[in-house]
Amino acid sequence: MLKAQNDPIPEVKQLTNAVLNAKRKLNGPPLLTTTDLNERLEASFVELTSETEPHKVVCPVYDTESSDRLFAFFTTRHLLSNLSSVGANTLQTDGTYKLTYKGNILITLAVNDKARRLHPVGVAIIGKKEDAIVYEHAVAAIATSLQKAGLPDYDPDAVMSDGDPAITAAVAISFSNARRLTCYYHLKKQVLKRMGSKKVPKNRRNAILDEIKSLQLSCSDPIFSSAARQLLQRWKQLGLKMFARYFKKVWIKGPLRYWYEGAALGTVSTNNGLESLHGRIKRFGTLRKKMAIGSFIKEMDRLIEEWSRASETHTFQSVPSRTIPLEVKAFHWSEDAFNKDFVAPQLRTGTYFVPGSFANEMSFKSYGRCDLKRRFKTFGHFVVWSKSYYRVFCSSENLLLCTCASSAKRFICKHSIAIERMKFDIDVSLKAKALPIDFRSKRGRPKFVSDALSID
Ligand SMILES: [Zn+2]
Repeated sequence: MLKAQNDPIPEVKQLTNAVLNAKRKLNGPPLLTTTDLNERLEASFVELTSETEPHKVVCPVYDTESSDRLFAFFTTRHLLSNLSSVGANTLQTDGTYKLTYKGNILITLAVNDKARRLHPVGVAIIGKKEDAIVYEHAVAAIATSLQKAGLPDYDPDAVMSDGDPAITAAVAISFSNARRLTCYYHLKKQVLKRMGSKKVPKNRRNAILDEIKSLQLSCSDPIFSSAARQLLQRWKQLGLKMFARYFKKVWIKGPLRYWYEGAALGTVSTNNGLESLHGRIKRFGTLRKKMAIGSFIKEMDRLIEEWSRASETHTFQSVPSRTIPLEVKAFHWSEDAFNKDFVAPQLRTGTYFVPGSFANEMSFKSYGRCDLKRRFKTFGHFVVWSKSYYRVFCSSENLLLCTCASSAKRFICKHSIAIERMKFDIDVSLKAKALPIDFRSKRGRPKFVSDALSID
């Protein structure tokens, strides 16, 4: 969706310098005072109302009283309107440093759709301090902007970000009902960084990351607590006491503990889309230079209008797309006699358990017992359990989701499509039925996934 911003990078250095010089001339000297900024904002942006043109960039909330508490929020009416979409219930946010004049910080707010496309909501430029007050300010700016644009209030179920405690504090105050999710990618990076000082031998590190990956698939809070207890036990038995203590304190008991799938089923598990957006801003936007606030405003205007138009071309998807390879898999899965017999008696009850890849390793009865008691003998026992059967269920947004890894990533899987087919008469396409069981699409990614903004 953001391909349009892949401006060619000038190959000749002189050309780059010439462009920069021209810009400097055009934008005037760097704006040093907040009064200048105030004037510039007032002169550059129209007021936001319910009548404002959808892609016109606006700055409905700003505070230029002091340079420490500098705040200006940029958005468009179209980008704001995505927040009313079904499925836009996890607000993602992240800060970027060293982009603008004198090291002011840029924070981006966005939502992900069910085609795994990121839709930016807006960008705020703040002073040099990224604290709870700033994030509260950003959240309040969204609320004010929605009101001005005549759009419904926004009350997300969850807010996802990296490990910044400022965000945790702000979420607790601004969205008291929202869960503060931690980006799984961020967790992996942090854990890897700490392994040395927590005395994890090099040859154990990959295995630990694999175990954390299995734990990440925990499908509910009690399952996570129980599985995590077994994993800590295992690490202690292997002599990794220091690491186990660290992991427990930060990632199991601390405020960043909501990094597993069951913390918010059917929503994103990483902020990678947002981070790659920041990467793009740095790489392709002129924001990569420490720039004067005046040129910054011009650049924001250009970037945000581009995002807004792109978000209209690729509208917010509330329902994940079926791909032909997935439909083929689902069709053959639902035609399999064993699977059919397994699912048939459940079709009336409204709960659907389906056999998984480890179904041979555990009886359905044992699976059910663990599910009920949420108790595992060992961590290995949990891993087998989590892959022996999956639960297909209807989410609050009326989507059929599944506890398997594929559904966690794509919000759709062969099991959910099979249940739709078997229970709800939503059949797969004739094309999928005609294709062989081992059908794979040609090399490359499925068409519906935008390669510019997918989350993985
Ligand atoms: Zn599934």
